[in-house]
Amino acid sequence: MPRKKSEPSCSFCGRPQSQVNRLVKGIGDVYICDDCVKLAYNVIQDEEDTRRKFKTFHLPTPGEIKDFLDEYVIGQERAKKVISVAVYNHYKRLKYPQKDIELEKSNVLLIGPTGSGKTLIARTLAKLLDVPFAIYDVTSLTEAGYVGEDVENIFVRLLQAADYDLERAQMGIVYLDEIDKIAKTAGENPSITRDVSGEGVQQELLKMLEANVVNVPPKGGRKHPEQPFISFNTRDVLFIMGGAFVGLENIIKERLGKRAVGFLSDESKEEKSEKHLLSYVEPHDIIKYGFIPEFIGRVPVITTLDPLGKEELVRILTEPRNAVVKQFKRYFEMEGVELVIEKSALYKIAEIAIQRGTGARGLRSILENALLDTMFKLPSMKGVKKIIIDDKVIAENALPLIVKKRNIKKKANE
Ligand code: ADP
Repeated sequence: MPRKKSEPSCSFCGRPQSQVNRLVKGIGDVYICDDCVKLAYNVIQDEEDTRRKFKTFHLPTPGEIKDFLDEYVIGQERAKKVISVAVYNHYKRLKYPQKDIELEKSNVLLIGPTGSGKTLIARTLAKLLDVPFAIYDVTSLTEAGYVGEDVENIFVRLLQAADYDLERAQMGIVYLDEIDKIAKTAGENPSITRDVSGEGVQQELLKMLEANVVNVPPKGGRKHPEQPFISFNTRDVLFIMGGAFVGLENIIKERLGKRAVGFLSDESKEEKSEKHLLSYVEPHDIIKYGFIPEFIGRVPVITTLDPLGKEELVRILTEPRNAVVKQFKRYFEMEGVELVIEKSALYKIAEIAIQRGTGARGLRSILENALLDTMFKLPSMKGVKKIIIDDKVIAENALPLIVKKRNIKKKANE
């Protein structure tokens, strides 16, 4: 039925008086309906609950955050420091709300090659702070051929991680993976390939990065009118974004001109400086890479991770609290067997991982493959005391040395 021109309507949801229970009049031509009053009340109540919760939230100092990260993340010293401060500021802002000044969120962008520890840093932070954590691959927002997922689904993940405790979910950490894939231009050649959908997704995400109340379908999927929504406030969610940004170094090089690399003569130096080029990144370079300035404006903290070298990969294999080597040693211990992985083997694993270009990501599978046969046979073998793995076991699939209980050395197939 067409609405009468004179009929007042809610200034918030737009529904006319005839479609609501109550309409409260404000000054002038402003009205609010009973549903919008309730919704606004809930939003405020929610915020107060979160604040109350934060009063009792133990906030570690940046130094404590970095110490914790050090237990799990090898290298990446600068990134760990930058992110420790950012996270401290973010949660301090929530714990001590300011009335006279608007403190901006410390959303973080991590730039670094695959397998260098971006996701690990985000995950480790969530563990330390004991807040819900969700990883979201943003490429699912731009699936070619059809419209991708709704951005609201990001918060479905957080809700799930928080066991549907809305208050907890709203102070969680979201890791947005492959963020470089929503650049509107293809990295290396900014002027040629235009991809409009990337820009659209950036616009959508932009709304989520600052305070915004979004209607989240609790079970995910497409929005459906019959599914009741949860009003999710994104104000206190910390967004950490990560991407490899292939080709970004060319943009930086261009900006720096000859100054950066011109004076270097031999190749190894040049390679080294290429590696460090990324650390000179400025917001403008990322805009040139294909991000809209408004989006980068919402990400005040940008830091880079270095590709991991051989020494670091060996440390990753052995040092972190849950290092892969420690894990395998434990498995063998459960069989009453000591697993010895010689230094030569560790370096060989690191070498293979570097060749594959998978960073630390590939380490586990290289070791796992080398140990497969042994792990298959061991539970049915008797009298084994020690198993020794050297570089030949890793590189040539040689059999490991097996030390039997009475000190008799044997090959695994005997
Ligand atoms: P990406 O940078 O692609 O997000 P991840 O953080 O997911 O890489 O790394 C994959 C795996 O490799 C991690 O789960 C971890 O086991 C290992 N790893 C990567 N980087 C490091 C690092 N700097 N220190 C310790 N382990 C690491």
